[in-house]
Amino acid sequence: MRKVADCRDYPSEMNCTLTIAGEEQEVVRAAAEHAASVHGHTDSPELREEIRKGLKDEVPQHA
Ligand SMILES: [Zn+2]
Repeated sequence: MRKVADCRDYPSEMNCTLTIAGEEQEVVRAAAEHAASVHGHTDSPELREEIRKGLKDEVPQHA
């Protein structure tokens, strides 16, 4: 089961629409790097834990 991090789920003044999908560790790492580089967050264990808690299961589109 892949996990999804959707930037639209997080408050942002940028109206960012990025969606990242993949294995949990991949998504957490990519989302943390995205949050740091695009949204100015500090990439920290706390940020990664917040991202991990916000992950959703990917919904198959052609099940
Ligand atoms: Zn974003």
